[in-house]
Amino acid sequence: MSMNAVRANIAIIGAGLGGLTAALALQRAGLRPLVLEQAPVLGDVGAGISVTPNASKALISLGLHDGLEQHGQAVPVQEVREGATGRLLKSIDRSDVRERYGAAYYMVHRADLHAMMVAAVRANDPDAILTGQKLASLAMAADGVEMTFDNGTQRRADVLVAADGSRSLVRSQVFGADKAEFTGHVAWRFLVPAGAAPAEALAPGSRVWTGQDRSFVRYAVRGGQLINCVGLTRTGLWRGEGWSQMVSAAEMRPEFEGFMPEVMQLIAAAPGGRVNSWGLFVRPMAESFVQGPVVLLGDAAHPMLPFMGQGAAMAIEDGVVLGRCFAVSANPAEAMARYQAVRLERCRFVLEESALGADRIQQDGADNKRLARNEDSLGIFDYDPATVAI
Ligand SMILES: Cc1cc2nc3c(=O)[nH]c(=O)nc-3n(C[C@H](O)[C@H](O)[C@H](O)COP(=O)(O)OP(=O)(O)OC[C@H]3O[C@@H](n4cnc5c(N)ncnc54)[C@H](O)[C@@H]3O)c2cc1C
Repeated sequence: MSMNAVRANIAIIGAGLGGLTAALALQRAGLRPLVLEQAPVLGDVGAGISVTPNASKALISLGLHDGLEQHGQAVPVQEVREGATGRLLKSIDRSDVRERYGAAYYMVHRADLHAMMVAAVRANDPDAILTGQKLASLAMAADGVEMTFDNGTQRRADVLVAADGSRSLVRSQVFGADKAEFTGHVAWRFLVPAGAAPAEALAPGSRVWTGQDRSFVRYAVRGGQLINCVGLTRTGLWRGEGWSQMVSAAEMRPEFEGFMPEVMQLIAAAPGGRVNSWGLFVRPMAESFVQGPVVLLGDAAHPMLPFMGQGAAMAIEDGVVLGRCFAVSANPAEAMARYQAVRLERCRFVLEESALGADRIQQDGADNKRLARNEDSLGIFDYDPATVAI
C-alpha cells in the first residue's frame, strides 16, 4: 500500500471474511478503509471452510499465498458416497487442480483464515479495524453517510461498504426490509480431534455421504489435527431466524440413522457430546448492490445456501473486484457501478445453483447425470476475480 494515501473515507461494516477481503483489496488500491465490527473481539467460528480455487486466486492476489499454504490443506480427492451403503458415487481427482484452475483447493479452519486476514489488514494499517462498533442506524447525507453506533459514536463516511452478513442492517435500512424464509434445511456442525476420530476419517481428501433429504461431509483442517464435520438435513419444523444453538449430539444422531459407521462414529466423537445446530434461511438476492454511497458485499448482498460451499468464496471475490474497481475509477460512484456490473450476474448464477444443489446431492442412489452438474462442469472455479474484465 502506498503510505502516501490519504485516509480516504471508506467505512466497511463487518470484519467477516468479506469485509476483511474488501479492506485488503482497497488497501492494495491505495485507500485506507476503516473496518467497524460489532464483536468486542475479532474471530470466526470454530469450523472448517473450503476455499475453492476461485477464492484461492482471490486471496493469493492479495498476498495470502504463504498463509494458505501454511494453514490450509490442499485437497487431493473428493468423494461422494451413498450414505447407507458407502458405495462410491463419484470421485473427483484434485491432484491437477493448480494446473487446471490456477490455484489450489484448500480446506482451512475458519478461525485460522480469519486471523491470517486480520493480520494482513493490520500489517498494512494497524488502525484499520475497530471492534465493539455495532452499527445501530444510518442516514444518507449530502455526499456520504452518517452512521450511529450503539455505543453512541457517530461517524461519517463518503462510502459505506456493507459487509454485515445475511441479516444486514444496512441492507434492510437502505434497500428496504425483506422477509427471511426458513428453507427447511438445518445444519449441524462440529470438529472432532483427530485422536478421537475413526481411522478411516483420517484418510486424505473430503468425503460426502448422501441420502434422501440429508448429507454429511467431513474433511481435515489445521494440519490434520481436527476433522471438520457438517451435516445437512431437512425438517418440517419451523425455526426462527438466527436460531442457532449447541445441542446434544443425541439430537443429530437419528437424522443420520442408517448411514455408514464412519459417519455415526464421527457424530459419537463430537467433543462433549455437543454439536452446533441452526436453521438455514434465505432472502431474495438484492436486485441492486449499490444505492448512492452504499455498496453491498458478501452475504449482505447475496445470502446463499451452503450446497456448493460458495458463500464465503463469493464474498471474497466481491472484495477483490471492489478493490480493483476503486483502483481504476475516477470516483467512488464509477467504481461502485463497475463493481455491480461485474458481480451481479456471477453472484446470481452461483446463488441459484447453490439452491438447486440440495436436490442434486440429497437423494438416494446413484444418478451420475445429477452429480455431473457440479462446480467443475458449471465453470465456477474458472473465474478469477483478480483478472476478470472490469
Ligand atoms: C453450514 C455452512 C457451511 C458453509 N461452508 C462454506 C464453505 O465451505 N465455503 C464457503 O465459501 N462458504 C461457506 N459458507 C458460507 C459462508 O459462511 C458465508 O457466506 C460467509 O461467512 C459470508 O461472509 P460475510 O463476510 O459476507 O458475512 P459474515 O461472515 O456473516 O460477517 C459479517 C460480519 O459483520 C458483523 N456485523 C453484523 N452486523 C453488524 C453491525 N450492525 N455492526 C457492525 N458489525 C456487524 C458480524 O459480527 C460479522 O463479523 C457456509 C455456510 C454455512 C451455513
